[in-house]
Amino acid sequence: MFRIGFGNDIHRLEKGRPLILGGIEIPSEKGAVGHSDADALTHAITDALLGSMALGDIGSHFSDKDERWKGADSFMFLAEALRLVDELGFEIVNIDSTITLEIPKLRPHIDDIRRNLAQLLAIELNAVSVKAKTAETLDAVGNHLAVKAEACVLIARKV
Ligand code: MG
Repeated sequence: MFRIGFGNDIHRLEKGRPLILGGIEIPSEKGAVGHSDADALTHAITDALLGSMALGDIGSHFSDKDERWKGADSFMFLAEALRLVDELGFEIVNIDSTITLEIPKLRPHIDDIRRNLAQLLAIELNAVSVKAKTAETLDAVGNHLAVKAEACVLIARKV
């Protein structure tokens, strides 16, 4: 039996903040603002996993009002979503995702991000797709004000 999940996220960009995507710090003049480490890609994948199990969203599990998650490593959230997948008797089949960011170019970092996610999730590298695009100078992302991420996951009942 298969289940599918979708997640997305957006974070504001400001100077003097780190830009973390998929647990990898990307050298960048501007970084993402958020209660946790503001890792939009990891948040989108976490939401997709929670969505695949109809277990709510990242905010219902890790409130942005909770001091425990201030500056938190978002891989903690992803690890908890993975624990729930496992507890329900499922495993991840594959993940597809897209990051939308104007600058810097993400191409040189994509494989590091994929490896990092595959390692945490204990799945093959070829089961983790991370794509990158710009917003063609349009909207908040295109104006260097935000970073956006979207993710789709497929999970299957363990045999
Ligand atoms: Mg977020």
